[in-house]
This record gives sequence, C-alpha cells and structure tokens, in this order.
Amino acid sequence: MSSVLPPDNHVHTQWSWDAPGEASMTRSCEQALAVGVPAVAFTDHLDFTVGTEGDRIIAEHIDPRPYPRMHVLDVSGYLAGVQECRRRYPDLRILTGAEIGEAHLWAASAQAVVARAGFDRILGSLHAIPYDGKLTAADQLFRRMPAGEVMRLYFAELLRLVEGSDIFQVLAHLDFPRRMWPRTGPPYDEQAFEAEIRAVLRALAAGGRVLEVNTKSPLASAELLGWWRDCGGTAVSFGSDAHQPWRVGDRFKLAVDVVEAVGFRAGRDRFDFWRR
Ligand SMILES: [Zn+2]
Ligand SMILES: [Zn+2]
Repeated sequence: MSSVLPPDNHVHTQWSWDAPGEASMTRSCEQALAVGVPAVAFTDHLDFTVGTEGDRIIAEHIDPRPYPRMHVLDVSGYLAGVQECRRRYPDLRILTGAEIGEAHLWAASAQAVVARAGFDRILGSLHAIPYDGKLTAADQLFRRMPAGEVMRLYFAELLRLVEGSDIFQVLAHLDFPRRMWPRTGPPYDEQAFEAEIRAVLRALAAGGRVLEVNTKSPLASAELLGWWRDCGGTAVSFGSDAHQPWRVGDRFKLAVDVVEAVGFRAGRDRFDFWRR
C-alpha cells in the first residue's frame, strides 16, 4: 500500500465554460492541500466553436454544433489566476494545462492557443463525435442508436483522435460515454469492446503517451489497466475531473489501489506520472 497520493492532473476551475457557480481555482488549491495531493494541474476546457484554416472540421464540412454556452478559454485571465494561486499556495505544485476536446478536428485552432500559452499538461478528450455531418455530443447518440453502437462509434473516433493528434500527452476518460450509459437495458459490458479498446491503447502506447484514470467516470477496472500494460503502456495519470473544489483528489485512494494492483507505482518523484 502506498501512502503517497498522486498529483491530480485533471481539475477544472471558473475558467471552464461549463463551470458551476462554486468552481474556484483558489478553493481547489485549498482542497488539494487538505486532502494531500502533492500537485494539481488546472486543465480547463479548450473547446472551439468556429474552425479556422487547417482544421479538419472545416475541410470535412462538419457542423460544429457547439453547446450554446460554449466559449473559448480566456488564456490570459486563466494564466493570471494560476500565477496568483502559485503566490498564495507555495506548498502546492500548480501546473498549467488544458483539456482539449476533439483535438484531431481542431488542429490549427488548438496549436495556435497552445503555442501562446505553453501549458504544462495537455489532456486529449473526445466528448463529441462527427455523426450525420454534425459534431454530436455523446449523450445525444444514445437517443439515436443502441448503446453498444454508441460505444463502437466512440472508440473508433477515439482511435482517430489518438492517431490524428499529437498535441496532447494524456488521454482523458477513455470510455467517457459510459457516464451516460442508459439505465434501462443491459449493463455496460467492457469485454464486449476489448478489441476496440486495445486498438486505442496500442496507438496511445506507441506514441509514448499516458492513460488517465478518471475518478469521475466509473473507475477503470484492473482488467482494463492490464490491457494498457499488455499493449505497452508505461504510465498512468490520475484525474478527478473536478468541476467543484470539493472533488479535487476524490476517490484517489481507491484508484491508487487499482493502479497498484496492476503493477504501476509512483514515478521518479511525487509530481510524476505513475509508472511501471
Ligand atoms: Zn472531459
Ligand atoms: Zn474534464
């Protein structure tokens, strides 16, 4: 049993477009110190609503269909907030970062922001899938087709994301649509998607990248982490995906137990990814 908690590499603040009223960068720092995570990465959403030249979403004429509330990250305001927190909480390691949605479709837009901001941690995420000419949120797909088909579409697009973008280091919430899995009908059966999941994991490992264990999603099974190890994966990142300060470091002890059971350990120092 390890007594050291890993860094929380996936935390949202008031700078995310979907932030609830209680979101707060300073409160999140206080929570990190209270629960004993040694570092946090503030990975606010970097999503785009309008494409630019060089974005696949333009070349392929995909309708971005953003959520009405969606807006692009205010990088200057966000970075100023991080500077202020580093000054106020010198005992906490605070990393800058971003969670980029569908980076393979927004390559030019994303690259322009990343070049300017110089983030420490970049998470790659798939929240929406091109379907019927529109970028469609995963939850909406469950209303259109059997749940298993949604997962197959999702993993196929996730492979395109991993193979089509190297702007991110960590792949976030690998099975994101599970959060919206229908309550009626059969339960989620991970083994039914083993081939699709392994294809994603192989591509991720081939690029020397990192798999996230997301503690907001249903927790990764030891079996899935075993597939990651078998596919050549060497590093794991822990992320609470907190949008409220109280969730920073949430369920990390449980996640650590699962990750350790598969043979991953704390890295070179307490701020590092966990490795094997
Ligand atoms: Zn996400
Ligand atoms: Zn997130």
